[in-house]
Amino acid sequence: MKEKMYMDQIRIAVIGGGAGAREFVIRLGDSFPDSVVLSLDVFSAEHTFGHGVAWTPEETPVLANMRAETLGPDYHEFEIIQEILEKTGDKEAGAEYPSRNAMSRALDERWKSNNPSTRPNIAVNIISGNVVELTKLEDNTVTVKYTENNVGAKQTCNGYQFVVLALGNIKSKKPDIFKSFSGYIDGWDIESIRRIKSNEKVLIRGSSLSSIDATMRMLHHTGNGVSQESRWQPNNILWYSRSGKLPFVRPKQLKLGSYFVDYPYLTNLINELESKKQSLTLEDVQSLLLSELRVQEFKKKGRFYECPKGLTSIQNLVEDDMQTVLGRDHDDIEQDGFDVKPQQVMLQESIDLADAYSLWFSVAKLLDEYTIPLVWNALDLKNKELFLTKYRRIFDKFWAPIPKVNGERLLRWLKEGMVHSVEYPDEDSLILKEGKIYLSEDIENESLSSTLEYTGNGFSYLINCGGISSNPFQMDNALVEKMHEKSQISPYFIGEQAYGIKLNWYTGAVWNQNEEEHGWLYTLTGSLTTGAHRFTNSYLAVSISAQRTVNDILRKL
Ligand SMILES: Cc1cc2nc3c(=O)[nH]c(=O)nc-3n(C[C@H](O)[C@H](O)[C@H](O)COP(=O)(O)OP(=O)(O)OC[C@H]3O[C@@H](n4cnc5c(N)ncnc54)[C@H](O)[C@@H]3O)c2cc1C
Repeated sequence: MKEKMYMDQIRIAVIGGGAGAREFVIRLGDSFPDSVVLSLDVFSAEHTFGHGVAWTPEETPVLANMRAETLGPDYHEFEIIQEILEKTGDKEAGAEYPSRNAMSRALDERWKSNNPSTRPNIAVNIISGNVVELTKLEDNTVTVKYTENNVGAKQTCNGYQFVVLALGNIKSKKPDIFKSFSGYIDGWDIESIRRIKSNEKVLIRGSSLSSIDATMRMLHHTGNGVSQESRWQPNNILWYSRSGKLPFVRPKQLKLGSYFVDYPYLTNLINELESKKQSLTLEDVQSLLLSELRVQEFKKKGRFYECPKGLTSIQNLVEDDMQTVLGRDHDDIEQDGFDVKPQQVMLQESIDLADAYSLWFSVAKLLDEYTIPLVWNALDLKNKELFLTKYRRIFDKFWAPIPKVNGERLLRWLKEGMVHSVEYPDEDSLILKEGKIYLSEDIENESLSSTLEYTGNGFSYLINCGGISSNPFQMDNALVEKMHEKSQISPYFIGEQAYGIKLNWYTGAVWNQNEEEHGWLYTLTGSLTTGAHRFTNSYLAVSISAQRTVNDILRKL
């Protein structure tokens, strides 16, 4: 039985002031009882509250990678955003993909009308500071130590019953090889990216969503009040990634009434397995997806694009491989005879398909921010490992594709030579020489040597857009380091590799080394929750995780 606290006043500390922290505060306020006094302190390392990494207003009109419309399944969270944009007469109301700026405006409006401190029993304090240490005292309350922003003075606040980490995506430490390289820029460092001059040679690590945003930020400028791409010369920007593959463009999604992959069905299945002391396997998940596909293929006949190459054909899906459920990989395309510029051909093909309804994509997206944490929590270690080592990349690529307009933008850059993209192992094979980064020409790769003929070798900048670090030891965050030192968090190891920390992925309750809940410490989705949320770290994911943490805390009152 869970311990109940029965108290008439509680204090909660929320660490991190991004969109996740703000959602947590709104949702806690929404369901908090009138009979209890609540004091909420939000510690924010940024000066602005609620924007965090993804939604900070900026000059470049980079797109939010979420679709605030209802073509896919109805998500309450997206409807809220769309409704706010409409109500406020925003110029981006109704946009298929709103920009990050529009999202930021909508989230600010949401806060204005939902700030719970208007309720008599709730006080919300925003404290501008970087939290460096948490200490649990003998009286079961927690002390928060932080460094005040600007001033730099160390301060403490006491008496919290709960602490909620809302640290979001945590930047990685600068890799050792770049320690003495002044041209290293983190992919989220908007200002440094915008300062790069148009005659510089720039290497971008990664070839996905963040690489598009970084390239847009470099190329963008506002002249005479008009927002446009500037006149960079071709052959200055080179993207590299281990797979050398370009992102997939999002097709249209059918609204499906699910039979096998919806929340109640999965919950029943997991409970039934648990009662037999069994756990869910990836094979179970795959067979649910296949069953769903069969039913939907029949029910939605004529409503989706029947790809001549068999993208959606059931025969292709009976192989024991989740990849076939989620789509085809570039290799298949190459085998089909597309040996001329396969990257661009593949990109063009997925742009062409973007206006068609895709059945396999719609079924794959039934694994969503609601169902993934449930499924992930229920998989055993062996299956989690199998997923992370075998399917993670392909799942990520097809599950989170890019908007069509970004696909078209990228294709244009490639055709104009504004961007080149190659397959290359990783930073261990980069060479730092006289203040520049070089790609090793010893790597056997035809496309590399021909690309370097255009771009030349020797780059003044390296922008790291290579994804979000999931290894707590590589996270550039003093609080994470301190919590680890004090054994308040334990890295979640699969084999040699650490994937976030040990926790209940469903409620966000953080575990100690013995895999028991601390009871007072929670985390919202983000770098620490690698696993379920590694793939779904979106505004929707962080909002849903905030709601689940709220529910768990309320259960304890
Ligand atoms: C580059 C990038 C692009 C993204 N694009 C999209 C997108 O297009 N669509 C989408 O839905 N999602 C996107 N996301 C996911 C995004 O993280 C979520 O949508 C959501 O905004 C996360 O909110 P958050 O508050 O959890 O994290 P964040 O926005 O990262 O905020 C966390 C905050 O905590 C602060 N913090 C960290 N440590 C401390 C500390 N010790 N003390 C005090 N404060 C601390 C940080 O400074 C930061 O301000 C993107 C993420 C990144 C990194």
